[in-house]
Amino acid sequence: MTEPTSRTELSALGEFGLIERIASRVHLQHTTSLKGIGDDAAVIDPQGLHQVVTTDMLVEGVHFDLGYMPLKHLGYKAVAVNVSDIYAMNATPHQITVSIAISNRFPVEAVDELYEGILLACRSYGVDLVGGDTCSSTSGLVISITAIGAANKEDLVYRNGAGDNDLLVVSGDLGGAYMGLQVLEREKAVFKETGAQPDLVGHDYILERQLKPEARKDIIELLKKLGVKPTSMIDVSDGLASEALHLAHNSGTGVRIYDEKIPIDPSTYQTARDFNLDPTTCALNGGEDYELLFTIAQADYEKIKGNPSVTIIGHMTDKASGSMLVDKQGGLHELKAQGWDAFLKK
Ligand code: ADP
Ligand code: MG
Repeated sequence: MTEPTSRTELSALGEFGLIERIASRVHLQHTTSLKGIGDDAAVIDPQGLHQVVTTDMLVEGVHFDLGYMPLKHLGYKAVAVNVSDIYAMNATPHQITVSIAISNRFPVEAVDELYEGILLACRSYGVDLVGGDTCSSTSGLVISITAIGAANKEDLVYRNGAGDNDLLVVSGDLGGAYMGLQVLEREKAVFKETGAQPDLVGHDYILERQLKPEARKDIIELLKKLGVKPTSMIDVSDGLASEALHLAHNSGTGVRIYDEKIPIDPSTYQTARDFNLDPTTCALNGGEDYELLFTIAQADYEKIKGNPSVTIIGHMTDKASGSMLVDKQGGLHELKAQGWDAFLKK
């Protein structure tokens, strides 16, 4: 982490001074944002659309480690993971609110860095920061973001719409964020033990997947352009296996994933091998990839066939056929969600 060049105590600004400092950097872009920061509540004009609301909380020591997560990246990621949930509904995010609990171990400059990332993400996803809350914390940093989006009623895609024979499709590639985390954790352990500077050379892609994930706005736009409306959709936050099981469970279907079809970047693959991990297991259970996993009707196959942004990794089945991973020899293995669990980890 780069140390801020000067240090201004939060107490020197006070809560209202801090809010004013944040507000001064915000410029509302949406016609739907009628009132942003500065009143008792924000005001949004739904303009006849259905509104979509989601919240995610990030807690220091549980979801992030400031030892290797720069505050600017943290701010960006906190927004990206929230708007990812809006895209997973096939909706467009328009506003966010950001609540932070922060201790006086952080200077004003640290808050500036955090908001630099938050506002950068606001620009890249086209959302307005319209409010939030600020309070003190006795130790760690907590960030809770709410994202608000909108869609036509008929465009919304839920987790429960998959049909028995629908194709299962995923964007991008999987397992990278998890392998990035493994590298960061390893280098942190080495640093603790020997004081050696982290060796992150050659791991750019997977580190970026962990530290600066992007929500797949482009995939939502692509599907619209191709005239494909998924029958069900979810974003991959906890790992492919867990998310596929969610789609199947909610839709009352079974699912088959062909392990050799799962898209894995070569650098993810190689790093997994170096760590003596099975790359497929990392892709199935790693999590934090923020790709979109969705089902489409067989009739839409021609529209997405060969598109480099998405991969068909399997299909849904009737419920009685169960949820299975199919290996190269055609062997069936029950699909299990061993993904990240908010209450079991640590
Ligand atoms: P209240 O006491 O009514 O909760 P606050 O003083 O907390 O009001 O907030 C004043 C305004 O500043 C509100 O518009 C609120 O949404 C906004 N705000 C507060 N904290 C933040 C923050 N961390 N980021 C963005 N906006 C914030
Ligand atoms: Mg408040």
